[in-house]
Amino acid sequence: MTTIAFIGLGIMGGPMAANLVRAGYDVIGYNRSRPAVDTLIERGGRGAAGVTEAVTEADVIITMLPDGPDVEAVALGEHGIYAASQPGTLHIDCSTIMPDTAERLARAAVSAGRRALDAPVSGGERGAVEAALSIMVGGEAADVQEARPILEQLGKTVVHVGPNGAGQTVKAANQLLVAGIIELVAEALVFLEACAVDTHAAVEVLAGGLAGNAVLDHKAAAMLARDFKPGFRIDLHHKDMGIVRAAARKAGVAIPLGTLAGELIASLRAQGHGDLDHGALLLLVEQLSGRATTNQER
Ligand code: NAD
Repeated sequence: MTTIAFIGLGIMGGPMAANLVRAGYDVIGYNRSRPAVDTLIERGGRGAAGVTEAVTEADVIITMLPDGPDVEAVALGEHGIYAASQPGTLHIDCSTIMPDTAERLARAAVSAGRRALDAPVSGGERGAVEAALSIMVGGEAADVQEARPILEQLGKTVVHVGPNGAGQTVKAANQLLVAGIIELVAEALVFLEACAVDTHAAVEVLAGGLAGNAVLDHKAAAMLARDFKPGFRIDLHHKDMGIVRAAARKAGVAIPLGTLAGELIASLRAQGHGDLDHGALLLLVEQLSGRATTNQER
């Protein structure tokens, strides 16, 4: 049986690790705060008290952590996964981090006699729970082939997009698109409300035409209800827009609308809303339009 160490059991990692248990893998979970480990144990996995304990018997290690420095902190160093795991172990990083960092991690893995893939995901908490994620994989073809049966238990679309770092580049493009689309959906919803249109009827018909998109399908109802429980935290999307801007700058590409969307996310975060779902961009549109919803109304 393949043993998988799963590090980072948050909104995404928790359900992803549970899906691997359900698929019959032996999963050893580790998370900085303990309750998430206990939840995995209740779901049939095993728990570890630290990175070293989680990875020593693992054939494959998956990380699902907030940002690049978090992944480097668990991967590198004398107690990190490239030192503590068995030689040849495959590390699959599903976190969203800078493409440059993913390349650097892959080089560190190879020089330690291990292997690494970047395999960031899209599809949100719902995609993680339903094992319906879209997974963009960067790395060596043979490693991707080895990882595929595992990744196919987590997502419906698993695509090898290029060498190490390429998965993160594609994910950056994904976050650029999602930020822009959410902002436009937020603007459309506030506009429809201001015009006293039946917003639910409007969303239904918009979703069937050229304006249809996954944000309208899966997020518009919560946005209309002012339900901003995350989902995907503004803090994380702010981090991702930093990645997008740095990567686009390095590529010499101008992203004017993406930059504006990133500034709106930064503003929402600066106002203390970093823990809300990114659908909360709607609050900012209301504020800019003099139609702010008060906390009491929410
Ligand atoms: P989260 O904050 O809910 O989970 C991160 C988990 O990692 C937390 O449980 C935290 O305790 C743990 N952690 C942090 N540092 C650690 C360490 N050093 N050792 C062990 N555990 C540690 O975040 P999330 O929403 O699950 O996102 C994880 C990653 O996936 C991020 O890179 C995010 O950008 C990306 N992502 C999120 C979504 C989403 O909808 N939430 C969708 C796609 C991709």
